Parts: sequence; structure tokens; C-alpha cells
Amino acid sequence: MTEIGSDVQRAARILKSGGIVAVPTETVYGLAANAFDEKAVTKIFKAKNRPAFDPLIVHVADDASLASVAAEIPEAAHKLRRHFGPGPLTLVLPKTAQVPDLVTSGLPHVAVRTPNHPAAAELLGMLTFPLAAPSANPFGYVSPVTAAHVAAQLGGSIDYILDGGRCTVGIESTIVAFTDRPKILRLGGLSQEAIEAVIGPVEVAAESSANPAAPGMLTAHYATKKPLVIGHIPTLLKAHNERSPAVLGFTSNYGTAGEILSKSGDPDEAARNLFAAMRRLDESNAGIILAEFLPESGLGRAVNDRLRRAGADRKL
Ligand code: AMP
Ligand code: MG
Repeated sequence: MTEIGSDVQRAARILKSGGIVAVPTETVYGLAANAFDEKAVTKIFKAKNRPAFDPLIVHVADDASLASVAAEIPEAAHKLRRHFGPGPLTLVLPKTAQVPDLVTSGLPHVAVRTPNHPAAAELLGMLTFPLAAPSANPFGYVSPVTAAHVAAQLGGSIDYILDGGRCTVGIESTIVAFTDRPKILRLGGLSQEAIEAVIGPVEVAAESSANPAAPGMLTAHYATKKPLVIGHIPTLLKAHNERSPAVLGFTSNYGTAGEILSKSGDPDEAARNLFAAMRRLDESNAGIILAEFLPESGLGRAVNDRLRRAGADRKL
């Protein structure tokens, strides 16, 4: 079984010798390898069973390291980094030749961010290379927000799990592409409103896209093993009464077995609780998960996106 610990030096040694390590960030746990080492990066794809057409996010310590992977940084991208970096903001920028095609799935652009987590920052500071790191879960499943979540699914197939506690944002980063006009490819831990307050109106990519060049955008993703349906919960409870339903509610569990994402109706808190709640329901003896959307603003939009994808292909 893979060891879980808080030894940052050990994580650094493993990464320097071409191994793969689960690393805590403020968004979700990542599965990291030296982004400049193709052999090491291949191990990530293998451990996650991730298709080669799904590119990885590269994590950099600072602007100097950013310059080693991004060939060009438009002013609006700089502006966003100044406001929100380090943080749950990933920028898609033209890549340098040093970034292997494997990392970007052959795209001429690289997705890059600086995480805002003390252990991740310390680790990146010890290394002379950036870290390629997608979420540390089997491809398509719910992302991990604790070291135990990583161990439950990838324990045994990775070299070390660096424990940095529970992720404080709890959903993946927001990805903004600068391949043309700025465009949000994936809603995440930084709200559209916050981004627009800095660089003005930004288009959001069509969310039903199954375009593999676009991040976490495969229609069925973040999915539980159990079927998950979304709608008006009292109605769904009646309809699925026979199937031992469990509720994934925003501010209430409707008096049944289930999870409440935020009693006070705070979408940030709901985002933080979402994946752990989904995992608990998936492990419970419920036959079906009944979920409801949050109001479409702030991180509510990103939570709804995850729910929609978790429910995709399961219109029951
Ligand atoms: P994950 O951390 O598992 O959510 O994976 C990172 C996400 O970022 C993936 O779903 C990728 O599709 C997306 N991504 C990474 N690199 C690029 C890129 N160059 N262009 C567009 N999306 C990207
Ligand atoms: Mg992922």
C-alpha cells in the first residue's frame, strides 16, 4: 500500500527520480510528476487510466517557472495572475518547446497554474522543474479532497501520498484559455464574476461539449458509480421511492437519508463539501442519488456543472 505522510522532502526526492506523488492543493489533490520528464508523465496516465487525449495541468512555483512553460503571456492573463494567483486559476497559454507533447495531448497550448497550498508551494520551491498534475482519481470519477480519498483509489499504484489536510476550495480550478479571446473552458474554484470584474466579460465554453481538447469537459465526468439524477427532490423522492434513494441537497436533506452541502446556503461551502458528500453517498447503501441544483451564481455555477456531468448518461 502507498504510504501517506507529510514529508515534503521525501516527495521531492521521489519526483526528482521520476516517480509520481499525490500532492495536496487548495482545489483537489493532484497526481504529480516532473512535467519535463515524459517517462514520469506516462506513469500518471497509467495510474489514472487516463486517455492520452486529455491534457494535464502544469503547476509552477512562480513567474520564472511560468516562463519556462508558457511562450507568451497576454496582458489580460498577467492581470488575472496578479489578482488571483496563487489560487484556483488555470491559464491556457502558448507552450514552450520544453513542454512535452504528451503533457498537452499534442496541443500547442499548455494549461498552467500556481497552487495556493503551503505544502504544494514548499514542494514546488524545492524543485527545478514544474509539476504536471491532474486530479488524483481514476479517470472520470469524483476528484479527491483528502489523502484518504487518494489512498482509497490509487493506493498501491503511486509512489507516495503527501498529506496536506482537507482541500479548502474543494473543486477544481477555473480554466481560462488565451488561445483567442479569453474564454472560460471549465468553471471551478474561481467564479466567473470575479474574473469578469478584472478583465471584463468572458465567454464560457458550451458545457455539454465532449470536445476532448477542452478540460474536464467530457460530458460524463466527476461521476459516482451509483446513478445520480438531478431535479426537484420531493418529486424525485416519490418517483424513486423503491430504489433506496439518498439525497444530495443544497440546504436541506428533505428529512431523508442524505447529505446537506450548506445549511446556510453558501455556495463556497457547498463546493468545499461536494466531492466528499458524493463519495459518502456512493459508498452508502443507497440505490440512487437524488441531487438538486444551486442558484446559478458564484461557485454555484461550478457545483452545478459537476452535478450535471455526474448525472450525464443517467437520465432515468
Ligand atoms: P484535471 O486536473 O484532472 O481536472 O485535468 C486537468 C484538465 O485541464 C483536463 O480536463 C484537461 O482537459 C484540461 N487541460 C489541460 N491542458 C489543457 C490545454 N492545453 N488546453 C485545454 N485544456 C487543458
Ligand atoms: Mg480530473
